[in-house]
Parts: sequence; structure tokens; C-alpha cells
Amino acid sequence: MFRLDGKLALVTGGSRGIGRATALALARQGAAVVVNYASNQTAAHSVVEEIRAAGGTAESLMFDVSDSAQVDDAIGDVVKRQGKLDILVANAGIAIDGLLLRLKDDDLDRLMAVNLRGPLACARAAMKSMVRARQGRIVFISSVIGEIGNAGQAAYASSKAGLLGLCKTLAREYGSRGITVNAVAPGLIDTDMTSRLDEPARKTISGTIPLGHFGKPEDVAAAVVYLVSDEAAYVTGHTLRVNGGMYV
Ligand code: NAP
Repeated sequence: MFRLDGKLALVTGGSRGIGRATALALARQGAAVVVNYASNQTAAHSVVEEIRAAGGTAESLMFDVSDSAQVDDAIGDVVKRQGKLDILVANAGIAIDGLLLRLKDDDLDRLMAVNLRGPLACARAAMKSMVRARQGRIVFISSVIGEIGNAGQAAYASSKAGLLGLCKTLAREYGSRGITVNAVAPGLIDTDMTSRLDEPARKTISGTIPLGHFGKPEDVAAAVVYLVSDEAAYVTGHTLRVNGGMYV
């Protein structure tokens, strides 16, 4: 089940954390994977090497998702070279935290450019070849914070809630072309992004999670694999929660 042989997938922010686990999981199911990264070439190359060592096909590709021209060039080039793009996982994201009254315009602009405009630009670029092929799979990585909010994360929560609206809209716009668009809303997952939380904070947060602990990047990757598989052909506009019960 959930085989992806012959499919070509692009994972933005595939060099670390959830994106890394997703790239590895897609490759294990047989997909060829393009591993996007912003600056950490070493990490991206190690994902590619791990996939190749296991007999899979992968390449790394640097571009900044917040720069639409870079996105169009990079995705256009992938489609030109490979003849298609079957799967887009719009995962790249950043967190800039702060209470609203302390949020600077520059921080707000940067966060929205990476977390919301980035996925929108990637989807727009990927959609061109998917519409021609009359098939495709897009998954946005949102967050539980976009669903429930969190004090100190006004900008982040807005961007992640925005992705859910984008997901539902694209599901309606492109369903007739055989393209499904879904979102995954992870809870707290152990990655570099959450590594700055100290032990007391982790303990407090874990107390709000029915399963009692943070998730692993692989937990999120498994949800993505399902959503891009043939088995999920009739699932679109859906948000799949991978949050240990933190929000039900
Ligand atoms: P992470 O470990 O900090 O990794 C972030 C990834 O995004 C890296 O691969 C990074 O590339 C890439 N990236 C950052 N800015 C980029 C840009 N402008 N263009 C292209 N790539 C960029 O993050 P994570 O925890 O795995 O999070 C992945 C996604 O899941 C994010 O959208 C995040 O908001 C979401 N999420 C995370 C959690 C959590 O608890 N961790 C929970 C809910 C949702 P480089 O390696 O080159 O820097």
C-alpha cells in the first residue's frame, strides 16, 4: 500500500526536520525526490546521499521559497528536465515569535513571505504542469497553532491558518483537473524548530498533549505519504491532524 513508484516529488525545506523525514519516507515508497533547502547544503546533501544509499533517486535543489522568481525558475527547471512534477510537499517554514505589540513589520513580512506566500508561489508553479497532466498531489504543512492559536505566535498562527484557507480553495479550484490538495497540521514535533524549548516548557506542553509527549518527524511524514498516495485519491481539502490529541 501507499507505493509511489514512478512519481516525482518536491519537498520544500527537505534538508531538516519534518521535511527531511518526509523526503526519506517518500523515497522509501518509491518516489524520486527533489530535496529543496534554503542554505544548509550539507544537510540537504546528506538526505540525498541517504536516499541514494538505499537505492532511491534524489537530488538537492537550493531556492528560497519566499522569492517567487526563484520558485518559478527552480520548479520550471525541474519540470523541464523531468517532464513532470507529481507531488509537491510545501513544508518549508520558519517561526518568529513575539507578542503582537512587539512584532516588527520586517519580522511579519519575512514570516508571511516564507510561511504563506512561499507555499502559494510553490503551488502556483507546480500547478502548471499538474494541470497539463490532469493529475497531481499537493500537501501543505500547517500547524496545530493555526487551528487553536498560541500567545506569542500571532504571525506564525496567522500564516498557518492562512495555509488551511489556501488548501481548501485550491482543492475547489483544481479538483476537476484531478489534483488533490490537502494539509497536515502537526502538533509539537521534535525538530530544530522546537529545540529551543527548555525542559520545563517541554514538560508543561507535554502535559497538554493527551498522548503525553512530542511527536517525531516520521509521524508527520507518514501522514504525508498517505495523502499523496493513490489510496487517498478521493481525499481533498482535508486537514489531517498529527498532534497527539493536543487539539481534537
Ligand atoms: P526546521 O527543522 O527548522 O527545518 C526547516 C526547513 O525549512 C529546513 O529544511 C530549512 O532549510 C527550510 N527553510 C526555511 N526557510 C526556507 C526558505 N525561505 N526557503 C526554502 N527552505 C527554507 O523545521 P521543522 O520543525 O521541520 O518544520 C517544518 C514545517 O513544519 C514548518 O513549516 C513548520 O512551521 C511546520 N511545523 C513544525 C512543527 C514542529 O513542532 N516542529 C509543528 C507544526 C508545524 P535549511 O536547512 O537550508 O535552513
